[in-house]
Amino acid sequence: MSDAVKVGFVAFSAAPRGVLVVFCDDALKFGEAARKALGKAADTVKRAAAASQFKGKSGATLDIPAPEGIKAERLIVVGVGKAAEIKEKDFLKFGGVTAGKLNAASAAVTVIAELPDGAMQADAAAAIGSGLRLRAYRFDRYKTKKKDNDNGALHADVSIAVEDVAAARKAFAPAGHVVDGVIIARELVNEPPNVLYPVEFARRASQLRKLGVDVEVLDVKAMTKLGMGALLGVAQGSTQPGRTVIMRWNGGKKGDAPVAFVGKGVCFDTGGISIKGAASMEDMKGDMGGAACVVGLMHALAARKAKVNVVGAIGLVENMPDGNAQRPGDIVTSMSGQTIEIINTDAEGRLVLADVLWYVTKKFKPKFMVDLATLTGAIMVALGTEYAGMFSNNDELADRLSKIGNETGERVWRMPLGAEYDKQIDSQFADMKNTGGRHGGSITAAQFLQRFVDGTPWAHLDVAGTAMGAPKTDINHSWGSGYGVRLLDRLVAEYYEATK
Ligand code: MN
Ligand code: ZN
Repeated sequence: MSDAVKVGFVAFSAAPRGVLVVFCDDALKFGEAARKALGKAADTVKRAAAASQFKGKSGATLDIPAPEGIKAERLIVVGVGKAAEIKEKDFLKFGGVTAGKLNAASAAVTVIAELPDGAMQADAAAAIGSGLRLRAYRFDRYKTKKKDNDNGALHADVSIAVEDVAAARKAFAPAGHVVDGVIIARELVNEPPNVLYPVEFARRASQLRKLGVDVEVLDVKAMTKLGMGALLGVAQGSTQPGRTVIMRWNGGKKGDAPVAFVGKGVCFDTGGISIKGAASMEDMKGDMGGAACVVGLMHALAARKAKVNVVGAIGLVENMPDGNAQRPGDIVTSMSGQTIEIINTDAEGRLVLADVLWYVTKKFKPKFMVDLATLTGAIMVALGTEYAGMFSNNDELADRLSKIGNETGERVWRMPLGAEYDKQIDSQFADMKNTGGRHGGSITAAQFLQRFVDGTPWAHLDVAGTAMGAPKTDINHSWGSGYGVRLLDRLVAEYYEATK
């Protein structure tokens, strides 16, 4: 992964280098360390603020090249709005906004992590560092030519000046691993489908072994033996064989039931015989965003040595319209023994998940399972790209996810499940069919998945609108967003890790 921004911490007393970044509130008030760093440039700031109508609103910036009176190459003032109204996720935003202002000339950067009323807490300073790295990430591996106006990639060495260097470093160590996890997920989603097919995806997931994760790759033979007929039915239309990857991180007490995360990994989805239209079909390389999140999450948890037992499981296939592809009308037998009539081969994600969810339920008896899947276009009709759809059979788990979603900014909105929807997926020939018609399409998909969790506390996140192609944000300019890594890492940290 290309790291455009390197983040370190220094004391307030260290002399600023290169680009200087300071924060002010909506009364244009600066803290003591910032005032000291600004020195004689304070007056320049005042005049520049008036000239550009900068009012210190949260996330607004004032950019002054070669400011008079100080050594800084450039001065960037970032507004924080009303200090009393700042939320945790705003610090990520401040870091992201800062990174958005940097360019190839910003070799060295000093950020004074201070609010008008005093130094930022270690967690807040660390969040600034995370925001910087998240925003600076870009996927340009396949660009061999630079555009005229592109004078090179950003390679900034950022020093965040803080009151307590040791505390900030301690807070940033785990946070940095989480950022790595987000970037791994983004990278997987952004990769083209000729490069990232199931076997290659499994190989990349296997790199988690370096962190002490136990990785098991089930090939077609192994999955056939297990009876994963639903997943294999999808995979059979591609020359690229499918895989299921089981990743285990055992950081908790021996014998403690694990928490489990399951991801849909359709490396490319043509729709199969029920083929999609040509418009935007290229986006279907991102139909593995759920699996990408699970790999990124496992990285974060293992790298920061989370004190918990975790299972990550991903079903990897390519959904192609080959001569051997499954047909509408086919009936497949899932690992659970339940039979499924295929109505539309483009409703393949639930078929993949059905077998992986069942496998995880039976093999690991987890405390809970969360699955992530770019499952339905219908979830975008309902929620747009701001929230992932959440479906759950467990109020406690759902409430926790909602709360953490609001804190981290990776938000979820709970949608209903209910026996009333079952009739939409009744089949006249098999135990169920794989689509429930146009109405409530995300709900009937979730209702289908629920039949494969056997009562395990479970939440399904439909991330079709959030994992890829979502509008750019202050902390993400990448097509693959890495959605879910921060949300689920925090869920684990806050509720399921042994206290240190
Ligand atoms: Mn599909
Ligand atoms: Zn799909």
